[in-house]
Amino acid sequence: MTDIVVVGSLNVDVVVPLAELPAPGQTVLGVADHRRAGGGKGANQAVAAARLGRRVAMVGAVGDDPEGEWLTGLLAAEGVDTAAVLRAPRPTGQAIVLVTADGDSTIAVSSGANMWLAPEHLAPSYDLIASARAVLLQQEVAAEVVAAAVAAAGGLVVLNPAPARPVDAATLARVDVLVPNRGELAALAGAPAAASPPGPADPAALAGLPALARSLGTRGPVVVTLGADGALVVTADREWLVPAERVDAVDATGAGDTFCAALADALLDGAAIDEAARWASRVAAVTVTRPGAMAAAPRRAEVPAAS
Ligand code: ATP
Repeated sequence: MTDIVVVGSLNVDVVVPLAELPAPGQTVLGVADHRRAGGGKGANQAVAAARLGRRVAMVGAVGDDPEGEWLTGLLAAEGVDTAAVLRAPRPTGQAIVLVTADGDSTIAVSSGANMWLAPEHLAPSYDLIASARAVLLQQEVAAEVVAAAVAAAGGLVVLNPAPARPVDAATLARVDVLVPNRGELAALAGAPAAASPPGPADPAALAGLPALARSLGTRGPVVVTLGADGALVVTADREWLVPAERVDAVDATGAGDTFCAALADALLDGAAIDEAARWASRVAAVTVTRPGAMAAAPRRAEVPAAS
């Protein structure tokens, strides 16, 4: 039986190292060769879960092109079952990632095949989605696809509502664990941007988050990720902060993806939500000590024991 079915995006990330990001209208030459990496939130989460030893299947779409071939090969090499990754009459999704040595970045995403995927394309995968122990979703595919997959799920439903966009009430009501960051939580709750301050989490800034989280009507906990400030777990009757591990951060890209995969992993072991969030924090912390997103996800044996 499949442990985790990931329904979501697959992208090729083209990473271009620059001295500084270009201003509008400006052309800048790279300071080193560009590199190609596997990406897309769906693919990142699938690989992160597979590296933790889970049996993972990916449902999504790539183009009928060399990039799609390369990407599915990459996932297959990680042990992810790619039989339900369709070939679309659209190009494989690409993210053009401009990065500087001090970590500033600008990203442009061409969704391509990811946004071609429509609910009717899921039909051959419904048995898989219904029988998996958990379904893990994000929002780099159409909202209708997310809604259809959630409706078909038979096991635990974990939704990472990234990037931010509203989710219909019927879908939210079937989500067992919602994992937004502050901006995504505010977008879901229809709250003003002030509800999602970009800076460090001070108690006053955190104070409004539980009410926002509870207003969404999910049937289980909401885990709000707060970057280096940790994660706020909100259940129906209490909330508490799981502090982030103290690490030397190199690149926080993909921390959220690893966090979601590890959270699902622990919940499948029967962990309570606080224990699962602590495990996810430890796994995500390893990711931020390494460059890259998908490439940075650790294997289970690489995650330090709890201190
Ligand atoms: P992204 O989508 O870019 O991966 P996100 O906003 O979804 O990001 P974050 O809140 O940045 O996710 O990070 C997810 C989790 O990773 C945090 O809750 C925390 O546990 C861990 N984490 C992130 N940054 C750090 C850090 N600098 N040090 C330690 N742990 C971190």
